[in-house]
Amino acid sequence: MTMPKRGVMMVVSAPSGAGKTTLCRELLKIVPALHFSVSYTTRPPRHREKNGKDYFFVSPEEFERMERRGEFIEREEIFGNLYGTSRNDIESVLAGGDDLLLDVDTRGAKNLKQALNEGIYVFILPPSLQVLEERLRRRGSEDEPSMIRRLECAIDEINDNYWYDYIIFNDKVNVSVSVLQSIYVAEKNRRIRQLDKVAEVIRSKEENRTDGKDYR
Ligand code: 5GP
Repeated sequence: MTMPKRGVMMVVSAPSGAGKTTLCRELLKIVPALHFSVSYTTRPPRHREKNGKDYFFVSPEEFERMERRGEFIEREEIFGNLYGTSRNDIESVLAGGDDLLLDVDTRGAKNLKQALNEGIYVFILPPSLQVLEERLRRRGSEDEPSMIRRLECAIDEINDNYWYDYIIFNDKVNVSVSVLQSIYVAEKNRRIRQLDKVAEVIRSKEENRTDGKDYR
């Protein structure tokens, strides 16, 4: 029996307000084979969010228990709430040969890159800081000090871009989604992932030779 080929892991992160969540949702719609990594969080669910689909919503006590048991491959405190990625959840998807999309903050993405020897890391950026500020203001969920904190945080995150594999400037959502999809498709077609198919092509030529046919 042959082992399933390990799945592709695509990690997407961005400063707050760059539009990452929308891009991830749109990509999942057009690439149904891609699984979404459901994180654990202590933040309460927002309107229409479902437990087990958007997040696993857990109490701070449960989160700490999981952390003590070493269940998180990375965890961060983000604007007062805890978020973590389960080591087992991602491993079972990837080892089963399925592809996985992770939507985590920039520190979480960096920790994953340091902890794992795999994955493609995509950084979503706004076309400008002015656009980022406009988007945050339009959301209307931040007060002025929180806005300033998020913008300062965004500048630090943008400065720390050197370790990413790809950067997408999210100006138009449909264009950005197709760039994100192209990155995924390119990764799927990496030579190293195609070696079994190459071997199959060669094998089929050798098998056909025994038919007396010449495939040169
Ligand atoms: P929100 O509360 O708006 O859904 O997410 C806040 C931030 O937490 C986003 O940047 C999101 O990408 C990030 N996030 C979600 N899950 C995780 C996780 O498991 N680990 C880390 N480090 N960040 C996460």
